[in-house]
Amino acid sequence: MVKRKFGKGAHKCANCGRSGLVYQSHGLNLCRRCFRELAPKIGFKKYH
Ligand SMILES: [Zn+2]
Repeated sequence: MVKRKFGKGAHKCANCGRSGLVYQSHGLNLCRRCFRELAPKIGFKKYH
């Protein structure tokens, strides 16, 4: 499975591959859960 393609309309989490509510902020495609998990690790301290 290739999950490296981020095209328009393809809203999939770059971490878990789940589609749905994906944040595309800061050049990242992460779902809510992954974003909360990874945000502190990658240096983001501000998130919803
Ligand atoms: Zn995810």
